[in-house]
Amino acid sequence: MDSRWTYLDYNATAPVRPEVVARVAEAMTIGGNPSSVHRFGRLACAFVDRARDAVGGLVGAEAEQVLFTSGATEANTLGLRSLARHAAPGGRACAASRILISAIEHDSVLGAAHTLDLPVETVPVTAGGVLDLGALDKMLGAGGTPVVALMLANNETGVLQPVAEVATRVHAVGGTLHCDAVQAAGRVPLDLDALGADTLVVSSHKLGGPMGAGALIVRNLTLVSPMLVGGGQERGLRAGTENVAGLAGFGLAAELALSDVANSNKIKALRDDLENRLHVIAPAAQVFGADAERIPNTTCLALAGLDNETQVIALDLAGVAVSAGAACSSGKVAAPRVLRAMGAPEALAKAAIRVSLGWASTAADIDRFCAAWSEFVARHAARAVAPNPYSRAAGAQ
Ligand code: PMP
Repeated sequence: MDSRWTYLDYNATAPVRPEVVARVAEAMTIGGNPSSVHRFGRLACAFVDRARDAVGGLVGAEAEQVLFTSGATEANTLGLRSLARHAAPGGRACAASRILISAIEHDSVLGAAHTLDLPVETVPVTAGGVLDLGALDKMLGAGGTPVVALMLANNETGVLQPVAEVATRVHAVGGTLHCDAVQAAGRVPLDLDALGADTLVVSSHKLGGPMGAGALIVRNLTLVSPMLVGGGQERGLRAGTENVAGLAGFGLAAELALSDVANSNKIKALRDDLENRLHVIAPAAQVFGADAERIPNTTCLALAGLDNETQVIALDLAGVAVSAGAACSSGKVAAPRVLRAMGAPEALAKAAIRVSLGWASTAADIDRFCAAWSEFVARHAARAVAPNPYSRAAGAQ
């Protein structure tokens, strides 16, 4: 990443760590096909094995429970489809009878859920951005065999979700739980058993690894219903010659991210400093999910009357990269679906920008963001309305 810029969009993707670039180059230089029995095959296989250990270590799982994929999007699809289809009796396409997904899931979960020929129901979240457990209990009480999808940390607000509590409730009614842990991995400690999810997903490029690598971590491999068949790789559950260089980089990024978790106080201190300064610059500024437990690197902030796209462009011109809502492939700004699900008024949701920190973030980055945002707010002061109607409705502080 160009050091003249301040990059604060780690939830979209993290800059690749220099050690990872070296490891990827090494794997590309040395490797053969991991399925080959000769020396070069064994060398390639060693990169993949080491990566499997590292990714298992990051999420508190055994290496054997890790299935490598092309990224979290594929892993979300593979996980949800597998849980929906598991052991369908009488040749039926699906064993599950309904899919319940939280209102704040990533598009890749939403999209996958809608391909499964099952009714998809949305579980609401509270104004603070946390899954509404009361609503979930009612929905689970309605019967059937549910597959439930609940992410561990939301990509826009950073709010952590009660995955372990939900796993207990879902299993009590004979259902299964899929958990997208992409934004939590490397930011909070993870333990597959403690979470209780049946399937868990992580992505390399959010950890400072290369794009195009991810993993589905599965408690019980017999649950997996493969989408890609042929070569027998990944124990026959995800065929195709392994992305050896990508996985080598993913593995090293997972090792480094695991040590970042131990130092997460540093990132949290930077993020808290940023939030304190925001309130000094604009006392009416809101931070979504501020009262909830959050991953330490994310701030989703809004000042009613500002426009999110204009802010992102102005900050970009000032050399600061942040995002407005979830980044999507076209580069357009996604509708603030998550913030609307939290009950945020449209005017406030449309003002929201996301600042997300990571392994290379420094106090100078926070200074630069605050200076640029402060200047933007001063220029648009006349349009910023106060008092903010959202301050009560959504309980965001
Ligand atoms: N889930 C979440 C929560 C994400 O933030 C992302 C990345 N935007 C994905 C899934 C998709 O990850 P990938 O880019 O590896 O397919």
